[in-house]
Amino acid sequence: SLTAGIVGLPNVGKSTLFNAITKAGVEAANYPFATIDPNVGMVEVPDNRLEELTKLVKPKKTVPATFEFTDIAGIVKGASKGEGLGNQFLSHIRQVDAICHVVRCFDDENITHVDGEVNPKSDIETIDLELVLTDLESVEKRYNRVAKVAKTKDKDAVAELAVLEKIKPALEAGQPVRSLEWSDDEAPIVKGMFLLTTKPVLYVANVAEEDVSDPEGNHHVQVVKEIAAKEKAKVIIVCASAEEEIAELDAEDREEFLEALGIEESGLDQLIRASYDLLGYATYFTAGEQEVRAWTFKKGMKAPQAAGIIHTDFEKGFIRAETVSFEDLKNYGSMLAAKEAGRVRLEGKEYIVQDGDVMLFRFNV
Ligand code: GDP
Repeated sequence: SLTAGIVGLPNVGKSTLFNAITKAGVEAANYPFATIDPNVGMVEVPDNRLEELTKLVKPKKTVPATFEFTDIAGIVKGASKGEGLGNQFLSHIRQVDAICHVVRCFDDENITHVDGEVNPKSDIETIDLELVLTDLESVEKRYNRVAKVAKTKDKDAVAELAVLEKIKPALEAGQPVRSLEWSDDEAPIVKGMFLLTTKPVLYVANVAEEDVSDPEGNHHVQVVKEIAAKEKAKVIIVCASAEEEIAELDAEDREEFLEALGIEESGLDQLIRASYDLLGYATYFTAGEQEVRAWTFKKGMKAPQAAGIIHTDFEKGFIRAETVSFEDLKNYGSMLAAKEAGRVRLEGKEYIVQDGDVMLFRFNV
């Protein structure tokens, strides 16, 4: 399953945000194959189209796409060298697809900051440095090993060494590996190194309740935004403590609460959506009488691959996909009407699936 890891210094609001995620999350019982790990929270990917499809098709059940957040505690200054919980957290970060970096942007005298004052710039640098140092350590080990093999003119080792020779100086200068650019040949080599600083990052600015609707007035948020802009990363504004309350409300009270906060969508929903985008994921739907369901696929996938997400047999025996865009289906009101209007396409093996496609796969068994 897709997962984002929540990182940040102590006392920035990670646990509070993670509690909100758990409270808002799906019932584990509905997902029998999901792993039950107290540090993992599974949430539904918010998508209004799914509700609209449910109204149109009236299926027996509706199944949203899901997304997981992992709470990664324990990064403090010196963690890469074994401080605090040491580098236990590292194995958790290796497993996530993206990193949500929570940054404290609220002032509260009663809540101690590890460095004595709220300072997002130095907080971000502290976390980044630990990740960079961890990568540097594994790159150095690897470099020595690969350099030896490369001397024998082994082709793979020579190619890998060239990549390592770009990565090493960058890390030594404190730069994350994701800031480097790679050719099509190099990219898979980099990926195979499982470095922490290759993961895409999303900043979560945790602000006070009164700042949620107008974060521009918060100086700390400006600092986070400037850093993010340089890295082409995105910033999501949340008030973690408010999110925890929102997660417990029913739909109606929730609307009211959001209105009172002055926002249209909860910070958590914004975060889920942004994480999903960050990873280049999109959604296609299947819409039958039994079940209307959202499926997560990676943008650029062809129809057979996308079908394989449902079942490997769908990919192996793929014949074609009856496809209609969500917009067309909505406008015409039913599959039949969309068909009569010629809006249902028969797509083959080379079709690149689009976000919002409603698909029915035909396959050989
Ligand atoms: P963690 O160490 O990063 O997991 O931080 P916690 O989630 O435990 O939060 C540390 C303290 O900050 C707790 O007392 C929280 O109640 C408080 N806190 C978390 N989020 C907010 C927030 O948005 N506003 C304010 N004022 N306090 C918060």
